[in-house]
Amino acid sequence: MEFNTRLLHGNYQPDEGTGATTVPIFQSTSFRHKTAEELEKIFAGAEPGYVYTRINNPTIEAFEKRIAFLEKGIGAVACASGMAAISMAVLNLLEQGDELVSSAGIFAGTYSLFMNLADYGIRARFAKTVSVESFAAEITGKTRLIFVETIGNPKMDIPNISELAELAHRHNIPLVVDNTVTTPYLFRPFEHGADIVVHSTSKLINGSGNSIGGVIVDRGRFNWDETKFPKLHEYKKKYSFFAYLAKLRQGIHRDFGVCMAPFNAYLNNLGLDTLGLRMEKMCSNALALAQFLAEHPKVAWVNYPGLVGNPYRRLAEGQFGGKFGIILTFGVGSKENAFKVINNLKYAYNLSNIGDLRTLVVHPASTIYASLFAECSEEEKQATGVTDDMIRVSVGIEDIQDLIGDFQQALNVVQ
Ligand SMILES: *Cc1c(COP(=O)(O)O)cnc(C)c1O
Repeated sequence: MEFNTRLLHGNYQPDEGTGATTVPIFQSTSFRHKTAEELEKIFAGAEPGYVYTRINNPTIEAFEKRIAFLEKGIGAVACASGMAAISMAVLNLLEQGDELVSSAGIFAGTYSLFMNLADYGIRARFAKTVSVESFAAEITGKTRLIFVETIGNPKMDIPNISELAELAHRHNIPLVVDNTVTTPYLFRPFEHGADIVVHSTSKLINGSGNSIGGVIVDRGRFNWDETKFPKLHEYKKKYSFFAYLAKLRQGIHRDFGVCMAPFNAYLNNLGLDTLGLRMEKMCSNALALAQFLAEHPKVAWVNYPGLVGNPYRRLAEGQFGGKFGIILTFGVGSKENAFKVINNLKYAYNLSNIGDLRTLVVHPASTIYASLFAECSEEEKQATGVTDDMIRVSVGIEDIQDLIGDFQQALNVVQ
């Protein structure tokens, strides 16, 4: 089965009772059971059944099953946001005194979360580059996981997932991958040895920018050893491959109360239906726009993994099946020029998000990075890869002639 067929038919059937083709919204807090004996069995885990929407719900479960199938995992847990998914995914593995190693060029919210974990006795170390050596240099006896994003943004640096998985496994720790920007359409981290995948569904999975959400998927292969993961080792005795998911569901996911709303699960189910079509169009638009910009006399530089000469081109080609993603950055010489281009674009919206149907642009230095830059040294600023003349583009599904025309006329304003 190919991607779009898997997407539409995998792990999903029309509603049993009514034949409804879209997953109905079970907008109900709790679920009645006919006898006390039945509810007793469900609570004991001896029988499947719905109880309370913070714990499980048919609309949310339908979404979880589809994502697990697409990622080729053994199960998934939906969360209220991408940040909730990342928080739960890592806290399910960490205790006071533990450390994690992460790539540095990650989503600003994730970076902030990892720094704040210090308040709970958990230390985050950041690899200087996406090379395996940089990650290896930060691993200590206390490290309990490696965390990466598939394409860093706005630096557009790409880690080699297979090599990082090998590194993690040599140290008996799992590799956690944020697959938000690539989605299972471009990349399935489990096929490259990763152990846990997280998504912000707010971006490409939802696709229309109408609800915040996140999801955690487990491959179910990691062998939780007694010394590094004593609690998961205990769960393994009872739940075997499902140890991580069982601990998550019976522990912090339930206790922190970070469930996805059924209505948002419904919207994500709808969005998911067209993920393949949208990604195909966005990736081809992004490549065409990057090629146009690279040739333009008023453009100083373009960073897109699909361009000839880009240092990550070969790795991206291998990992992402010949496509290169939906995000590109380019420079126009100065902050003043960048503002002029942004202010003159007609179709591209100026806002701080990615993965919408519509093309989005932002000036990272004066927005997403402004508070960080106010505090850090020039050297630290350079390490982020964000320059004053940079414009980030999340490419949408508009017709490419119109998109190129829009950037052409906006660039005409630049001296
Ligand atoms: C947006 C984003 C997040 C955070 O997700 P929210 O749904 O906004 O909480 C995490 N990782 C990446 C790569 C993102 O783009």
